[in-house]
Amino acid sequence: MISRLKFFKRLDLDPTELILKKIEIAEELYNFWKEVFLKDEEFLKLLKKYETSVLYSNQIMEEKKTFEECYICTVLDGKGCCKAGLENEMTINILLLNMFLKKEIPKEREVPGRCFFVGPLGCKIFGRPYLCREFFCKRILDKLSQKDYAIITQYLNEELTLLYLINHYIRNLLEFLMGEFLLELDITGYS
Ligand code: SF4
Ligand code: SF4
Repeated sequence: MISRLKFFKRLDLDPTELILKKIEIAEELYNFWKEVFLKDEEFLKLLKKYETSVLYSNQIMEEKKTFEECYICTVLDGKGCCKAGLENEMTINILLLNMFLKKEIPKEREVPGRCFFVGPLGCKIFGRPYLCREFFCKRILDKLSQKDYAIITQYLNEELTLLYLINHYIRNLLEFLMGEFLLELDITGYS
């Protein structure tokens, strides 16, 4: 287990190999340690709060029609900003978080030239990397009033604060369990 994390650090992979390697390592960590995490009340509380905050963020973006604009941009206009390579904003830690939430992890790139996690209707992953949640292009900003933008930002701020806290929690507990410094859990691996 520990040597496999070091292995990941030494690899110089193409984007697809890199994300597949991260998924493989996250699955291995999940299968090995899930019982410890899923018995930890504090972790479960944090997990639930994060899940709820993502649902709230999604709901507000649905109401303010940013998802609709991204759907038009990506699916109908064939543009979109979820390019191939961006999947590696996804860290092992965020993959693990999705696994703890029992969310499905895609196993192959469905749309050529697009992020590994893009499906016919847009992004397929529940817990998304920081960049994916923070980024609002001009097309979206032009559609939003300042007030709506501030409201969305407030929701996302809550979600991303929880994402940080839960990533920190997972890494701390794994470092304690494995007796290793596990920087690899939080790095994108391509920058
Ligand atoms: S954020 Fe902007 S560029 Fe990206 S998919 Fe949405 S509308 Fe398109
Ligand atoms: S939002 Fe989803 S599909 Fe787009 S870059 Fe992020 S992870 Fe990939």
